[in-house]
Amino acid sequence: MKKSFPKSPRGPRAPRISNVLTDPIAFFCKDCELIVEGRPIGRKFVYKCARCGTKNVAFGTEKALRDFYRVKEESEVKKENTEQKSRKEP
Ligand SMILES: [Zn+2]
Repeated sequence: MKKSFPKSPRGPRAPRISNVLTDPIAFFCKDCELIVEGRPIGRKFVYKCARCGTKNVAFGTEKALRDFYRVKEESEVKKENTEQKSRKEP
């Protein structure tokens, strides 16, 4: 096997960030092990759990949090029960 790594002709990685930023931000409390409602503390990017009050809260897209922490679907916070259509963005 040759050790030649082909460089991508388009330069650095393809920008897929915009795809992530369109998702809403969710908060995950590591103590509750749930996706919770995050409360901002002051002007810092620190959030505390609205459920137990600790600052042991991570935030990111809901999908990323689910993948990373393996949150079960049953722990999902029920907010709206309007449509059950999967997202179709143009
Ligand atoms: Zn909590």
